[in-house]
Amino acid sequence: VIKTFGLRRVPGIEAFVDLEKSYDAIVVGSGLGGATAAYGLVQEGLRTLLVEKGEFLSHPYDSEGPTGLYMGDVHGRRDKPFEYVGGQTKFYGAAMFRMRESDFCKIEHENGSSPGWPISYFDLETYYERAEILYRVHGSADGDPTEPPRANPFPYPAIDHVLPVAQVVKRLRRAGVSISYLPKGLDYGPNGRCTLCSTCDGYYCTLDAKMDAEIAAIRPALATGLLTVATGTECLRIETRTDGKSVLGLLVKRAGVEYLLRSDRVIIAAGLPHTALLLRRSHTDLHPEGLGNQGGALGKYMSGQSMGTIFPLLGTSAIAPAHVKTFAMNEFYHGSPEWRYPMGTLQVTGQLPFWRLATPIGRPFAFLLGQISLMCIYVTEALSTRETGYHFEGDRIVSKTPPIQNARSFAAMRRAAVDAFRRAGYFSIAPRSVPYSKSECGTARFGDDPSTSVANQTCQVHGVTGLYIADASVLPSAGAINTGLTIAALALRTARSASV
Ligand SMILES: Cc1cc2nc3c(=O)[nH]c(=O)nc-3n(C[C@H](O)[C@H](O)[C@H](O)COP(=O)(O)OP(=O)(O)OC[C@H]3O[C@@H](n4cnc5c(N)ncnc54)[C@H](O)[C@@H]3O)c2cc1C
Repeated sequence: VIKTFGLRRVPGIEAFVDLEKSYDAIVVGSGLGGATAAYGLVQEGLRTLLVEKGEFLSHPYDSEGPTGLYMGDVHGRRDKPFEYVGGQTKFYGAAMFRMRESDFCKIEHENGSSPGWPISYFDLETYYERAEILYRVHGSADGDPTEPPRANPFPYPAIDHVLPVAQVVKRLRRAGVSISYLPKGLDYGPNGRCTLCSTCDGYYCTLDAKMDAEIAAIRPALATGLLTVATGTECLRIETRTDGKSVLGLLVKRAGVEYLLRSDRVIIAAGLPHTALLLRRSHTDLHPEGLGNQGGALGKYMSGQSMGTIFPLLGTSAIAPAHVKTFAMNEFYHGSPEWRYPMGTLQVTGQLPFWRLATPIGRPFAFLLGQISLMCIYVTEALSTRETGYHFEGDRIVSKTPPIQNARSFAAMRRAAVDAFRRAGYFSIAPRSVPYSKSECGTARFGDDPSTSVANQTCQVHGVTGLYIADASVLPSAGAINTGLTIAALALRTARSASV
């Protein structure tokens, strides 16, 4: 698919990478967690090797061609692995929210509880700020009743709403609904590359203007000369010393050849399910069920989010292509007078050609809907239990139990959003479909108790000094807000812990 649309994998940018050299630290996986951790290690002055299974993506910018290349065309389905430098972020929507203060605490939901984290929001606040600066997050705390306390304002001003969106926001506010700016990681502003086009969320940016993990973290880290990126290199196993108490290095495979890389600082950020799988595959006689798995928590406690769509109709004429993904509705995050459990959030999405997924009969209707409405998603937290996550047989994952949905809270969120748009004068199409599961996390979560977690408070794997985790796998819960900025902030914190 990639060839058809001119997006190329670029092997060999690091053609002279020396795997036999010794590095102060090694990171596995170059997605949001791994790239940000590598950046953090470099900032601490450590010579760092980043090992990535995939390659760099590149596209020669063509002023005649589209600015963004749609994920469905250049990558394929979302459930296919995103094995590129930058991981999933090469196509992400760059909505970079801090998790809410309550997301770090134990919270009762309709079908169970969301666990308390081993750290509080305030332990992460300075790392959130660093992550916002790194990912050039444009935002504003105005209008968001759930925005957590911050030491400093957003590093960049919020992206203004374009005309049809500005009108919707105005009418929602007039109807008494709290509406906030959606924080976006973009290279926008004086000398910035972003043109605020319509092809951002779900697209590859040919201008390198979206602050994905490669652009925001890997490129500046490479510029210091302290980072080496080994692409096309798969980590097969984590090696521990003979006493089993500390990390020795990694077994990797590159161009058919296996190498043993030695380092006493290793950060695993291979994403779901690969981080859990790697820890499992690295079992030894001293760690028979895998590293960090003495309590049986590896692969377990998967949490996530339930997502549905709502299309408020703006009129009868087609909305022009524009950067519309600029507002969010967090008023119902913690519930409402009608529903006492947490409900979640609503966000406008980018202008995605969703009608291409419709059946041939439904496609003309879906296309029309796409022209005259704003596509919005509503999201409710889905919960972890000891049983949610991956089930292993030997070194393989044989099945997965998804996170527990809160179906009535999800329905309450849908009703609240439809009602908010109705009060603002918009009729909405809001299909009552089965929730789509998104932002899965956990399966190697951090915590204080080794019987229910895989890593400790600093994200160091229980019982293995020098081995850390820094991706979505380490999050104990997903909340209902986008998890990306939290993954990045935690990765910076982990890099700091690993470097001392
Ligand atoms: C279309 C889309 C839109 C999104 N929009 C948003 C958004 O607006 N806001 C938000 O917060 N989140 C968004 N997300 C989710 C967000 O991108 C992910 O949560 C985040 O990128 C996960 O980061 P990660 O580091 O855990 O893993 P990943 O991004 O999955 O990266 C893992 C990396 O590890 C590599 N790897 C795996 N196994 C190995 C191995 N054995 N050896 C070497 N390398 C390996 C992979 O190739 C990959 O590059 C979106 C996702 C998608 C797909």
